[in-house]
Formats: sequence, C-alpha cells, structure tokens
Amino acid sequence: MTVSRTFSIIKPDATRRNLTGAVTKMLEDGGLRVVASKRIHMTQAQAEGFYAVHKERPFFGELVEFMVSEPVVVQVLEGENAVLRNREIMGATNPSDADAGTIRKELALSIGENTVHGSDSEENAAIEIAYFFKDEEIVG
Ligand code: UDP
Repeated sequence: MTVSRTFSIIKPDATRRNLTGAVTKMLEDGGLRVVASKRIHMTQAQAEGFYAVHKERPFFGELVEFMVSEPVVVQVLEGENAVLRNREIMGATNPSDADAGTIRKELALSIGENTVHGSDSEENAAIEIAYFFKDEEIVG
C-alpha cells in the first residue's frame, strides 16, 4: 500500500454556505485523513501565486477574485494514492460533468465556484503543501 499526501482547499463558496464539515466528511468517508488544516483568508498575492499556472487563461482574474472573496480552509490529506483518490472524490471541474456522489456534483455551484481544489499530481501536491504549510504543521 502506498500512503501519500495531497493538498486540498475548501473554497469560498463552501465556507460561505457553512459546508466545511460536509466537505470534510466526504473526504474522510472517501478514505482520506486530514493531517493538517487551517482556515485562512487568502491575500491577492497568495491567490495569484497559487494559480500562477493559469495566469494566461481567460478565467484567471475571476478565479483570483473568487478565491479572496471569503475565507478558505487549506488541508493536507493523507491516504492510499491520495492525489488520485481525492480527484475521484472531488469529481470533474465542471459540476454538471461530475459523477453522482462526488463533492462537486452534490455541492458545487458552477465551474468557477466548484467547492474544492485538489492537487493534480504528486509533484504539484508537494509544491502546494509547501506553499501553505510548514513541516511541523502536518501531523500524520
Ligand atoms: N475554472 C474556471 N473556469 C474554467 C475552468 C476553471 O473558473 O473554465 C476555475 C475552477 O475554479 C477550477 C480552477 O479554475 O477549479 C482551476 O482549473 P483546473 O482546470 O485546474 O481545474 P481543477 O483542477 O480545479 O479541477
């Protein structure tokens, strides 16, 4: 069994609707363990840096504006094949394409306000975890 870690964000549309617990329960029920968690209000600079890979995309400005609009909960999740498992639990980017039972199908509002972020590779997971957490903040 390969236990690994991934990075997750409970996005502003979820914190605004008081769904932090509901989202976390779906992650836990899906076999992931929260080994670090904090509620933060992202700064513009933090959000722009985090999504730098998307800076040429047409939705970049809207995405950054959304991510700083309300607090978020950043988390490190641990489990078997955590990156892949989390992407399965999250569902497709656009909630209308997401499978039944996934977080985005059940809870997301739109392709932009889609409730959760999850790393898309092991490499990005390590980068994204380090962007928000010090080693000693992660307790496995
Ligand atoms: N996004 C958007 N419009 C789009 C595509 C993406 O607003 O047409 C936002 C959405 O919040 C998404 C984020 O940008 O979660 C990052 O996009 P990506 O393609 O990396 O999707 P994800 O990995 O989050 O499923």
